[in-house]
Amino acid sequence: MNVVKILASTLIFSVLVACTGEVAVESDSDDVAESDNATGASENPLLTPSDLQFGYPPFDRIKNEHFESAMLQGMAEQRNEIEAIASNEAPPTFANTLVAMEQSGQLLNRSARVFFGLSSAHTNDEIEAIQVRLSPQFAEHEDAILLDPRLFARVDALHRERDELGLDPEALRLLEETHQGFVRAGALLNASEQERMREINTEMASLQTAFRQNVLSEVNDRAIVVDDVAQLDGLSEGEIASAKAAAVARGQDDQWVIPLLNTSGQPALARLTNRELRERIYKASVGRGSSGGEYDNRQNISKIMKLRAERARLLGYPSHAAFNLENQTARTTEAVNTLLTDLAPVAVANAKTEAAELQTLIAAEGETFELAPWDWAYYSEALRAQKYAFDESELKPYFELNNVLVRGVFHAAEQLYGITFTQRNDLPVYHETVRVWEVRNADGSVLALFVEDMYARASKRGGAWAMSYVSQSGLMGTQPVSANHLNIPRPPEGEPTLLTWDEVTTLFHEFGHALHAMFADVQYPSSLSVPRDFVEYPSQVNEMWADWPEILSNYAVHHETGESLPPELLEKVSASALFNEGFRSTEYLAASLLDQAWHQKSADTLPNAEGVLAFETNALKEAGADFEVVPPRYRTTYFSHIVGGYSAGYYSYIWSEVLDADTVQWFLENGGLRRENGDHFRATLLSRGGSEDAMSLYRNFRGRDAEIEALLIRRGLTPIEG
Ligand SMILES: [Zn+2]
Repeated sequence: MNVVKILASTLIFSVLVACTGEVAVESDSDDVAESDNATGASENPLLTPSDLQFGYPPFDRIKNEHFESAMLQGMAEQRNEIEAIASNEAPPTFANTLVAMEQSGQLLNRSARVFFGLSSAHTNDEIEAIQVRLSPQFAEHEDAILLDPRLFARVDALHRERDELGLDPEALRLLEETHQGFVRAGALLNASEQERMREINTEMASLQTAFRQNVLSEVNDRAIVVDDVAQLDGLSEGEIASAKAAAVARGQDDQWVIPLLNTSGQPALARLTNRELRERIYKASVGRGSSGGEYDNRQNISKIMKLRAERARLLGYPSHAAFNLENQTARTTEAVNTLLTDLAPVAVANAKTEAAELQTLIAAEGETFELAPWDWAYYSEALRAQKYAFDESELKPYFELNNVLVRGVFHAAEQLYGITFTQRNDLPVYHETVRVWEVRNADGSVLALFVEDMYARASKRGGAWAMSYVSQSGLMGTQPVSANHLNIPRPPEGEPTLLTWDEVTTLFHEFGHALHAMFADVQYPSSLSVPRDFVEYPSQVNEMWADWPEILSNYAVHHETGESLPPELLEKVSASALFNEGFRSTEYLAASLLDQAWHQKSADTLPNAEGVLAFETNALKEAGADFEVVPPRYRTTYFSHIVGGYSAGYYSYIWSEVLDADTVQWFLENGGLRRENGDHFRATLLSRGGSEDAMSLYRNFRGRDAEIEALLIRRGLTPIEG
């Protein structure tokens, strides 16, 4: 049931796909959606289906004050619809139960998608306050449906006779998945256990919202303030100007401000020559959420983890991880542990080799200090320049945003799938920099609307992600309105937007999510739900086109001279692909192992707030991922993934990468960028959503199961000889 899944207590992460690419969030003074039109006389546009194409949201008419009443009314409406299904005197049929459930909750679905879309992309105090007020109510709403014994009895009766119902494969899978959803929510528990379940879910919803809001507040609160511009030696003029602008935006006109990103590592560390400042930035970054004060997250994390462990126990699982992995493609904690613990020692060994090289470089500069975590990025950039003789900033003039998007991302999709893009200036947007495109199939039929929101601003959460305002469904007669979000610093008025290589690949990545949504061709809304550890796979595959020669030469042209990217510069980029990979794999695997450590414990072995940091240290040590100069990509108290929909699921990125690397291999074996290849990938996989078992879809596409070799080569993780 679509709406119920969307309204899980982890709602925001069910609708939005969080991604790995994080770039700086600059603070600027853009106005956020205001609610000046508070006359109350205007009609609430969320209450009726949008009359814009494909149900595109009427952003120009939606105000803050519309959300809460629309979502509350939506919950009431869905409860009435569910009541009618549950109390129906006719015996249960697929149509009067499953199809009816799929059709319920349309008002809630429509308004919640806009609400959570904006709470991530363009939030404000009112939206945040609504989220605090409503998150426990969402959890209660979901429980009211999934713990309704009459409703479950109908689903259960159908499930028992599922093989005699004459259902097609997609319908049969919907029945099985819905039944499993009820069981996993506690439908088989007794009344007192269900009561405890409801309490846990409600409390957890509030704790998760508090955690997320603390992370955002802490990023802003702990931004680094610098009094003397001399300390910023090493930064470019543009970066110093941004630091000044960030200070001015905070009313600190005489100073400079370096904003923090989500991750432990911070980009300024790669360039700042002042070692004391580097240390200050690093310590502020990794101290987020665990240094006391208003936004400390240790209490929240301890409570969340204990409640999850308790809930898993109630449902008969040894741990939250065991519970969560059961319906993933990984299936078991053992499978995940095997992958992570096989890779971690090789990654750490690679990182240690890299550290030794950095220490040599430090000594060569006549310094005697030992490499510290705040030195890594600085010396590895110096080493990169020495070894490969190029500076990443040399690439930027060739990566102008519009070129990358239209002549790169869109062009690749046109070559592979025959789809075309036309900008739509007639549809309203929630921020002046947002653009909308109409996407057409090769036969000219309209496929979808694509929304792109590229720039960082203070009202937007960090990182990059994809979501859909409207999802495809044959039953509902809907076509996709799909959106991508990045956090590219906005250049001064009139200047071009020049991307880093990382931002270029992130753009291709996010568009892979959009393709997965736009190509969907399923009957039931719930058929679009895929396992978390499968979600990143199509998007990672789409990254392969970023440096595909025919695509790259089409978009990578100098923004002033129109010259193509010099091949020798590109060769240097390719030659350095494995540079620093030991660090990257280690920080990622350490975070993944941390996620598993938290979620594989029982409630009585989890620490209280005071023990959170020690628990983290021990967990990394036990997993052999405690190389102190390479901190986990996220430490627990700002690890939003594991508090949201990636709980026990951060391993998904590397799990998906096994499929990704194996798929890239398939494209290479079959002639690469060819329409036939794109059509095959679309028909067997991208259009199927979760309407079949994910691994069956993969086999349909690949002709066999995935093999891991391509990934090991790509990441330099082949076992060390001798
Ligand atoms: Zn992604």
